Amino acid sequence: MSYSQAIKDILNILDLNIIFNENCLSTEKIKGVFSRIFHGFLEESPTCCPHCQSNHSNIIKWGYTSSLIKMPSVSEYVTYIRLKKRRFFCKKCDTTFVLDTPFVSRNNCISNNLKRLIAKQLTSKHAMSDIAKQTSVSTSTVSRVLKEWYEPIKKYSYELPSVLCFDEFKSVKKVAGSMSFIMMNGETNELIDILPDRRLPKIENYFNGFSLANRKQVKYVVSDIYQPYITLTKRVFPNAKVVLDKFHLVQYLGRAFQRIRIKIMTQLKCKEADPKVFKIEKPHEISLLKH
Ligand SMILES: [Zn+2]
Repeated sequence: MSYSQAIKDILNILDLNIIFNENCLSTEKIKGVFSRIFHGFLEESPTCCPHCQSNHSNIIKWGYTSSLIKMPSVSEYVTYIRLKKRRFFCKKCDTTFVLDTPFVSRNNCISNNLKRLIAKQLTSKHAMSDIAKQTSVSTSTVSRVLKEWYEPIKKYSYELPSVLCFDEFKSVKKVAGSMSFIMMNGETNELIDILPDRRLPKIENYFNGFSLANRKQVKYVVSDIYQPYITLTKRVFPNAKVVLDKFHLVQYLGRAFQRIRIKIMTQLKCKEADPKVFKIEKPHEISLLKH
């Protein structure tokens, strides 16, 4: 077995184009921690240009580019590969490029082996901060691996439509809230769901069960002027606009008009001796409300 292959077996690297020479191991202090560094090369001849698909006759070697890639620890040492990748220049489209290797994603400094280890640890009952400590990465890296490797659990079997209509109603005595929440598809007029409680924490928790991608697709939320619905829309539907529906708007205007009418009538009654003189007869009252 060659020296290079022995190193690759230790680091679990299957890419045939990565080479390690003798004396490729050094110990350096990186971010204040003594770490093992394996110095390797990625030597591969491209068959064509990835930008213009021109064949290899137009491609020439163009120096190296180096990157530091974190690997799973070896003998409890934080371990890296300093990988020198061959750069190429395409004479046809005047661009440079570097070939990819399967053991690390493009523009990434965490190897796929290390990501796989983190993903495996995420299946155990450990806090993200503990996994970060064990694998010598930051907690945000663990969080990124979680998002990259695992699909969020779908709580509901249906998706949200682009137009949602909210309202509340009195349902049954057993429910915790005074009013229940009802939701409808604004495009098809179909009932989507009923929740026993219309209060903000309850409905926010419900909508957070849908993926962010789905919630981003909601364009309009049609509701009355109940403030928690407006707050909810801002929090969980980043691309949605609140639309106040016509029924509730007319209802609010009607109530406001009634209040002013009653106030004026009360004032007139106070000033005059006979309140009957200033009483608005029923047909006039209805006419005023209509206008
Ligand atoms: Zn090209």
